[in-house]
Amino acid sequence: MATVHVLTEGYVGDRVAGTVTLIRDGSATVVVDPGMVANRRLILDPIEALGLTPEDVTDVVFSHHHPDHTLNAALFPEARFHDHWAIYQDDRWDDRDADGFALSESVRLMRTPGHTLEDITTLVETGDGLVALTHLWWNADGPAEDPLAVDGALLLTSRERVLGLSPSLIIPGHGAPFSVG
Ligand SMILES: [Zn+2]
Ligand SMILES: [Zn+2]
Repeated sequence: MATVHVLTEGYVGDRVAGTVTLIRDGSATVVVDPGMVANRRLILDPIEALGLTPEDVTDVVFSHHHPDHTLNAALFPEARFHDHWAIYQDDRWDDRDADGFALSESVRLMRTPGHTLEDITTLVETGDGLVALTHLWWNADGPAEDPLAVDGALLLTSRERVLGLSPSLIIPGHGAPFSVG
């Protein structure tokens, strides 16, 4: 079973920051969406508080390719990087489809298009149930309709597919974790 640690909670407004999360699953240490933050110490200090260094991070997941979710990727020199269609490390680009791809025993990826056509959700089996890390929601308030979605109807379909997995917790793109209900 994996454990999930939100490193910093994102927000949207005059300024924008992404929610950055770390997952530990056996020998895998995964950071999801190392994007824009007011100061990169907001990512690094919580990692150190967990007794880890940036070099310990084995995997980074990009929910999609917007800078608010990717800007600080270079903090993790040892990681392999995952998006919807490939794994990248140093000068290697290995094609693979993210849908159903298992990063580790308890962490897998799922295509959830809508905000962009290339969005993926990270699904984590924990002792407290399934956790879904996803940009299908910006925060607990939605928004009900994503004004920036390239395909709003597809986004709603993707939300229903994620909710159909009965996650106990959703970690949205720009806010604090929230329970479904
Ligand atoms: Zn985006
Ligand atoms: Zn975003």
